[in-house]
Amino acid sequence: MTDTILVLNAGSSSLKFESFAVESTGEGKELRSLLHGALSGIGTPHAALSVKDEKGATLADEAFAEGIADVEAAQDVVGRFFRDRQDDVRILAVGHRVVHGGLNFKAPVRIDAAILEAMTALTPLAPLHQPANLAPMRSILRRRPDLPQVACFDTAFHRGHSEIADRFAIPEWLYEDGVRRYGFHGLSYEYIASRLPAVAPRLAAGRTVVAHLGSGCSMCALDGCRSVDSTMGFTALDGIPMGTRPGQLDAGVVLYLMRQKGMSGEEIDHLLYHECGLKGLSGRTNDVRDLTSSQDPRAKLALEYFITRAAMAAAELTCFMGGIDGLVFTAGIGEHSAFVRAGIAKRLAWLGVELDEAANEAGAPLISTPASRLELRVLPTDEELMIARHTLALLEA
Ligand code: ADP
Repeated sequence: MTDTILVLNAGSSSLKFESFAVESTGEGKELRSLLHGALSGIGTPHAALSVKDEKGATLADEAFAEGIADVEAAQDVVGRFFRDRQDDVRILAVGHRVVHGGLNFKAPVRIDAAILEAMTALTPLAPLHQPANLAPMRSILRRRPDLPQVACFDTAFHRGHSEIADRFAIPEWLYEDGVRRYGFHGLSYEYIASRLPAVAPRLAAGRTVVAHLGSGCSMCALDGCRSVDSTMGFTALDGIPMGTRPGQLDAGVVLYLMRQKGMSGEEIDHLLYHECGLKGLSGRTNDVRDLTSSQDPRAKLALEYFITRAAMAAAELTCFMGGIDGLVFTAGIGEHSAFVRAGIAKRLAWLGVELDEAANEAGAPLISTPASRLELRVLPTDEELMIARHTLALLEA
């Protein structure tokens, strides 16, 4: 019988999951990924389940012509996949990703009815993501109240920020009301911080900007592996441009859309989350692979804009920390786009950045030259492993 931890990352249109074996070693418990997958296209006519084992071999690849209505229906499909495999597996606990922990959730927490209620109360802070994140917990709590569940928050790693980093320049009552610069992608940054002592001791002890460049993009300032500032704010719309979100935007634009264009909250929401960023600028796609291979001037503009704003944000975080020892690239674009990394590095040459072009093209872990004042690194993130670690730790506590 293999003891496992199941990690669920439920979004509005996808349910991602990963199963980890819990193995005992001389030094305690270790986690090993067994399989990972996603049920994508929830609520669309293109729902599909894809599951791969730890070596990347396909375990399931199934389309659902009749569609999958919601996260709960998706959970049934994933549950059936696990039951049908008839592995000798026992799920010890389920770890969940939760986008918003508000003011009070500063660390992962065991889920019960009261905690679920407290997390539900945070829905206005993340109306699109929070309900989807919580749906699987609610149904597991109902069907399997005995199964331990743990919530891990994307905001928690940033909760130690100083007031300067935590505030907008708005009246006190709004700050007290919870309108703060929470920051997101915390599980990704926490994972990177956990790896730095082994892979880059100088950065672990020093001041590092981590660039999480994926579908969503943000940057985090790490001082001695502790988050001190982030480019994201109250919601995951702030900061640097992303695949389909604009990043920092004059709040007056939103007023203009409301008053002069007569757009509703829902319409503005859709525009800002799905039609902006690289997609809006290029007028075609948010996929950096397509943009870098395109000759279209708008594709070039989109990349140039993205790279320039990202470099400017790294400089801003450097100013906040009063210096910088290194820059770490992670997530889809950060891990795979040599073009974007080179562009950002070039714009930071004035800080003493010297890129090793060949290492960058090869996607090597270290992409700066020995003469570079800053250490530049590529380090794959693993938010699911971070959630599994937290879940195991709370289970053992
Ligand atoms: P998610 O937030 O959905 O987990 P990822 O971290 O996987 O997103 O990042 C997805 C983005 O990464 C894609 O939109 C694409 O722009 C970019 N990407 C993925 N692979 C490559 C690649 N080989 N080269 C350039 N960009 C890539």
